[in-house]
Amino acid sequence: MTQVVTRFAPSPTGHLHIGGARTAIFCWLLARHFNGRFHLRIEDTDLLRSKQEYTDSILASMRWLGLDWDGELTYQTQRTGIYNAYVDKLLENGHAYWCSCTPETVEAMREEARAKGLKPRYNGCCRNRDLGPGEGHCVRLKAPLSGKVVFDDLVKGKIAVDVGELDDMVIRRADGMPTYNMAVVVDDHDMGITHVIRGDDHVSNTPRQILIYEALGLSVPRFGHVPMILGPDRQKLSKRHGARAVIEYQQDGLLPQALVNYLVRLGWSHGNQELFTPEELVEYFDGTNLNPAAAAFDPTKLEWCNAHFMREMPLAELAALTAPFVEQAGLGNLPQERLEPLCAMFRERANNLKALAESFRPLLVPAAELEYAEKDAAKHLAEAGKAHLTALAAVFAACAPFTAENLEAALNAYVADNGLKFKEVAPPLRTALMGFMGGSHLNEIMAFLGRDETLARLEKAAG
Ligand code: GLU
Repeated sequence: MTQVVTRFAPSPTGHLHIGGARTAIFCWLLARHFNGRFHLRIEDTDLLRSKQEYTDSILASMRWLGLDWDGELTYQTQRTGIYNAYVDKLLENGHAYWCSCTPETVEAMREEARAKGLKPRYNGCCRNRDLGPGEGHCVRLKAPLSGKVVFDDLVKGKIAVDVGELDDMVIRRADGMPTYNMAVVVDDHDMGITHVIRGDDHVSNTPRQILIYEALGLSVPRFGHVPMILGPDRQKLSKRHGARAVIEYQQDGLLPQALVNYLVRLGWSHGNQELFTPEELVEYFDGTNLNPAAAAFDPTKLEWCNAHFMREMPLAELAALTAPFVEQAGLGNLPQERLEPLCAMFRERANNLKALAESFRPLLVPAAELEYAEKDAAKHLAEAGKAHLTALAAVFAACAPFTAENLEAALNAYVADNGLKFKEVAPPLRTALMGFMGGSHLNEIMAFLGRDETLARLEKAAG
C-alpha cells in the first residue's frame, strides 16, 4: 500500500477554531495511524484577510494540541509560479482556454440563465475562440460537456455530480493569480496527498477539483468531508454556544488531550468508548466510523472530559501545568512542592486548570485576609462553634510534628473524648480554615497551612 499522506490547509484569516482543529486532528490521526506523513499548508492567497499573526496563532495552537507536522510549512503565496506552470500545461494540452469576458458579461450570462429558470453559469462563449493572453484575460478549464463526476467520500459515501452542473471554471484570474481550486489541486498533487479530509463546506469544490486532476492526467486522492459542528440547539455553532478559538480554551485552562479527545468523538466513534489516551486514538483512528451526521457541541461534556484528564495525569505534571494559572490569579509564584499538595487536595473538584488555581485562593491568603461566606459563618461560627475552635486550637497546637496523620488522630480524639459527633465539630473548623463550607480533607488542609497559619485561622474565627 502506498504511504498515507494527509494535510491540513488553514486560511490564516483568524485563529484556529474548534471546527478547523477537529479537521486537523482527523488528518493528523489518519497519518499517524498508518505511519504516514502529515503536512501543514497555509492557504494565504486572500491577501486582504490573511495575516501573519493568525498563521503564528494557528501554528501555536497546532503545537499545543500536539499536532506535529512533517516537512516544511508551505505558504501558497510562495507558489504562484508552480500553479501557473500547471495552468500553462492545461493550455498546451487543450484542457484550458483564454477568456476575455469581463465580470459584467459573465454576470449578464448568469442573469440570463436565471431568468430562464436555468442554473446560473458561464455559457462557454470563449471556449472555441482560440484567444491568447491579453489584458483582462483569464484562463478557464475546458470541462467535459457531459458525464458525471463520481467519488467515494470517506464520510458521506458515494457522491455523483452531473458535469452539466459545473461550468468552465476560472483557473487563473485576469490578474495572473491562480484560483483556489487550481492551487489546491496542484498543492495536493505536489505534496503527494493521498487523503484530503476537510470540512463539508468544501464538498461542492471537490467535483471541480476532480475535473482539474483529470485534465492534468493526475491520480485523484481519496476525499472525506466532515460535517460542521453544530451548537447544542443544532444551529450553526457560534460564540453564543460557548464555542471558541483553541487558544481561548488554552487560556481557560483546558488540557490539550481533553480537547483532542472531545473533538475526535464529535464525529467519530469507536464502539461506546468516550475517553481515549492519545495512544489509543492513534491506534484506533483509521478513517472509518466517521459520522456523516453533524454533531452538536456540548461544553459540559468537554469539561467532563477535561476533569477526567486532570484526575488521571501524574500529580507533578498537573502541578507544573497549574503554576501559570496560579500566578495569573495573583496567588504568587509557588514552588512545585507547594503546588503538588494543593493539586492533590483540589483536583477532584475542578474542571479546568483556571478553576483549580482559583480554588487554592483561600489557602494562599493570610488568615487576616480570609473572608467568610456570610451564610456559613452565621451558621457555623456561632457560640458553640467558636468554643470548639478555641478548644481545638489547643489540641492542634500540641500536635508535633504537625502532619496530616497526627492532626487527624488529634481531631478524632477530640471528638471521641468529648462525646461529640463529627458533624458538630467539622463545619466550624472547615469554615474557620477555608472561609466557607468547601475544600478538601481538614487534616490535609491544616498540614498544608502549617501550625502558625492554622492556629491564626482558628483564633480569628473564634475571636
Ligand atoms: N483553506 C481552506 C479552508 O481553510 C481549506 C481547503 C482544503 O482543505 O482543501 O477552509
